[in-house]
Amino acid sequence: MNQDGRIVVIGAGPVGLCLSLALAQAGIRVSLVEQLGEDNFLEQIPRAGTNHPATLEMYDRIGLYKRLEARGIIAPVFHYWDRPEHELVASFDHAVLKNDTPFPYVLQCERIKVVEEALAVAKEHELIDLYLQSTFEGFTQDANGVTATVTGKDGEEFKVSGDYIVSGEGARSIIRKELDIEFEGFTYSDRTLNIEVACDFRSLGYAERNYISDPVEWSNLFHWKGPPDRWRVHFPVAEEADEAEVVSLASLTDYMRRFLPMGMPFEILGSNLYTVHQRVAKKFRGGRAILCGDSGHVNSPIGAMGMNSGIHDAMNLADKLVGILRKETDDSVLDRYERQRRHVAITHTQAQTIRNKKMLAEKDPENRRRSLDQLRRTAEDPKLAREFLLRSSLIDSLREAEAIQ
Ligand SMILES: Cc1cc2nc3c(=O)[nH]c(=O)nc-3n(C[C@H](O)[C@H](O)[C@H](O)COP(=O)(O)OP(=O)(O)OC[C@H]3O[C@@H](n4cnc5c(N)ncnc54)[C@H](O)[C@@H]3O)c2cc1C
Repeated sequence: MNQDGRIVVIGAGPVGLCLSLALAQAGIRVSLVEQLGEDNFLEQIPRAGTNHPATLEMYDRIGLYKRLEARGIIAPVFHYWDRPEHELVASFDHAVLKNDTPFPYVLQCERIKVVEEALAVAKEHELIDLYLQSTFEGFTQDANGVTATVTGKDGEEFKVSGDYIVSGEGARSIIRKELDIEFEGFTYSDRTLNIEVACDFRSLGYAERNYISDPVEWSNLFHWKGPPDRWRVHFPVAEEADEAEVVSLASLTDYMRRFLPMGMPFEILGSNLYTVHQRVAKKFRGGRAILCGDSGHVNSPIGAMGMNSGIHDAMNLADKLVGILRKETDDSVLDRYERQRRHVAITHTQAQTIRNKKMLAEKDPENRRRSLDQLRRTAEDPKLAREFLLRSSLIDSLREAEAIQ
């Protein structure tokens, strides 16, 4: 069914693309505007990559799952380690969720592969008008619809109109700023260093996904499918450290030598240094303009929740926009979207990622011992482990949001 309405989506990140696919597959026309072009779309810095079970269900719904499975690593198990002791503290197996989801595992598949595959599907869809290399500048709205101003690849300005506009622009959303919506929260003073490295971490007992507690230098370690096969290791970096020095080959080599047993071979493939924010927009909606994904909430990547919860926003919003454009409901459902997804952003994504970082970086020996013991007990008890995994994989957040009217 092809409806008369049209949704303008800004940003072909994972959120904008999943939203566009869900809308188009329900018969809604979409104009999707993305500033990157064919020549640089795949040159984005490495970011997300762990896709939780509920997100895999959503990929399946929009025809992406099989394409992504082929490019990722199925990882049912993840670990918590104590770095000073090189001790495996807790091992969690998503298999305990086999009655909760058809996908009782995470898929290690980087954001760049998600957007590459989703863009390929979007290009084929007749209801998606794709504007690549086109920069969104601002928008106006009235009782009948919205109009976005866009600068095209040759510098020419043009307009794109629709019934609603959705910001999938990421954290620097112009739409959020134009709506004058506060982005409440804080920025961590330390930054995070990401090193991409080829190394046989499996021989050291690590799983595909590892959270590593250390009062001096916590880290995360994740495996990604090649070629070339590689791992991503995160370390904290002090606020005052000089960026050029931190990412020099000598410094990256030092980080890895400290992390690995003496003499263990490795090859550094890349790095980047980033600042981590914990922020949630005060509102997710201003009339016909709606925030989705990072435009509405950003968080620490520890726990792999940003992209996942953004895609959960997108699917929730798609269903509501489809209902509105089919005239099955009025647009007060968008206020419910805001109630549901702000609740998740604050009480699940924010709260859990803050707790995760605190636990990994804990310096007080007594607090540290207590929280590692608790993780150990949780992993050993199947009932507690299932409850833990329902939370960490965001299944709980979706169930809770469903109950919000
Ligand atoms: C190091 C790191 C690791 C992470 N790991 C994980 C993880 O494992 N799991 C997880 O769930 N999350 C993770 N995240 C978070 C995740 O990357 C983000 O939450 C996710 O990418 C947000 O998706 P989005 O589509 O909302 O925005 P983005 O991915 O930021 O995409 C926004 C898109 O909009 C485009 N755009 C922006 N402005 C304009 C404009 N004016 N005009 C046109 N186009 C525009 C951009 O070019 C981009 O394509 C991580 C983040 C970092 C930094």
